[in-house]
Amino acid sequence: MREQCPKDRVKNFNEVPYGYTEEEAVREASRCLQCPDPPCVKGCPAEINIPGFIRAIKEKKFEKAVSVIGETSNLPAVCGRVCPQEDQCEVRCVLNKTGKPINIGALERFASEFSVKRASEKKPEGPAVAVIGSGPGGLTCAADLAEKGYRVTVFEALHKAGGVLAYGIPEFRLPNGIVAGEVDNIRGKGVEIKLNYVIGKIKTIEDLRREGFKAFYISSGAGLPYFLGIEGENLKGVYSANEFLTRINLMKAYKFPEYDTPVNVGRKAVVVGGGNVAMDSARSALRCGAGEVTVVYRRTEKEMPARRDEITHAREEGVKFLFLSSPAKILAGPQGAAKTLVCTRNELGPPDESGRRRPVPLENSEFEIPADTVIVAIGSGPNPLLLSTIKGLKLNGKGYIEADPEGRTSVGDIFAGGDIVTGSATVILAMGAGKRAARAMDSYLKEKE
Ligand code: FAD
Ligand code: SF4
Ligand code: SF4
Repeated sequence: MREQCPKDRVKNFNEVPYGYTEEEAVREASRCLQCPDPPCVKGCPAEINIPGFIRAIKEKKFEKAVSVIGETSNLPAVCGRVCPQEDQCEVRCVLNKTGKPINIGALERFASEFSVKRASEKKPEGPAVAVIGSGPGGLTCAADLAEKGYRVTVFEALHKAGGVLAYGIPEFRLPNGIVAGEVDNIRGKGVEIKLNYVIGKIKTIEDLRREGFKAFYISSGAGLPYFLGIEGENLKGVYSANEFLTRINLMKAYKFPEYDTPVNVGRKAVVVGGGNVAMDSARSALRCGAGEVTVVYRRTEKEMPARRDEITHAREEGVKFLFLSSPAKILAGPQGAAKTLVCTRNELGPPDESGRRRPVPLENSEFEIPADTVIVAIGSGPNPLLLSTIKGLKLNGKGYIEADPEGRTSVGDIFAGGDIVTGSATVILAMGAGKRAARAMDSYLKEKE
């Protein structure tokens, strides 16, 4: 796919790839073999009829293409952009053997542009159900339940719906307008979304039960950032990636002072971590004016969990990488803000429980790098605020909700899925969980009737 050239794109927040033209999309769709038992579909947790929508593109029936996708997925414009297709549908495409699988994600993105907004003709009138959290998992579950006739209310703690899609993933990978469009489509199905509404604080699940809600889907994500626990982490200039990206994406810090929230990246920014969140933080820091951005990762590039595309994009844009290095402490400059990151060098030892080789610190290997800003992107976990208010809800050792693959929890009327069950994962896995839970909630409510 054609994209903005690196030297231009580091100066703006516009989307990096341009998307297919009609001619490119039809040409790509024409390569699809229309396999009778298509393996690509087995790789899609949203169960999209992939050959079906690709055939429609080949025949230039673009609205039909998006309606085929819409039979099972409510977020095609999102998935076409951020789904890790290389590990899902595309890796299973029979043409992957030739090294040139069909670019299914790009075709899905193309089709999504022909989405026609249709408000649901019938207002849902069934029992009331509540969804907590408006990320991709919650939105998918809400849309599927509304289609089954339930009166769905989504409660969202933040002032914008979309979860990580709205506050985490930057504009240059997933424009906010695209997320808002998908959210509007879901509202059009009769789903009510209540913003600025923290369940566990404003109201508990027990309150909602008393108000007549018959079942609950918890999709509150894994948004509580982990920290390094090192000296100097409380200095000015040190951010969790979660705060840094929220300031930039949700609060529009890159448009300061037009918007009220600033973000200060200084001359030299350091990002600690090796996942997609670290790549998003590094690329955002560059766009916010940092002269130099370095990613510090404790293993080697081979073990980095970020998508290959993200690493390549970051490197093209000038992000530097420091491998086999771990932060040891952060030192302050004369103004009392972060100035220097002290690191130790590692070597790789035997594999740990994740299957990746464990970083082992080398003795007397400390070294310093300049860092006006340190962004900590080493993962996040479940927020206990809501979970601690629910009687009888079983959690695992790490504080995530215990749920079966259909989302059933230890409390009969409460279902859960997405990152709050699996830990930080992917958009499409959260959507798949939302779909399965909607089916299970439907069966539960029908049985209860
Ligand atoms: P979330 O998207 O986390 O949404 C949870 C929502 O619940 C939030 O809006 C939160 O405010 C709300 N909430 C929490 N508690 C309460 C409460 N008590 N009351 C009301 N609301 C509450 N995945 C990919 O597939 N591709 C990518 O490229 C990718 N990039 C990523 C980049 C970043 C920066 C991050 C952070 C994640 C990325 N991911 C990516 C992971 C993906 O976004 C998540 O796996 C996915 O969003 C999980 O969806 P979810 O619905 O479970 O929860
Ligand atoms: Fe592939 Fe993701 Fe689209 Fe499914 S939703 S077809 S896995 S890009
Ligand atoms: Fe087309 Fe590949 Fe799916 Fe076959 S496996 S139907 S070629 S996308």
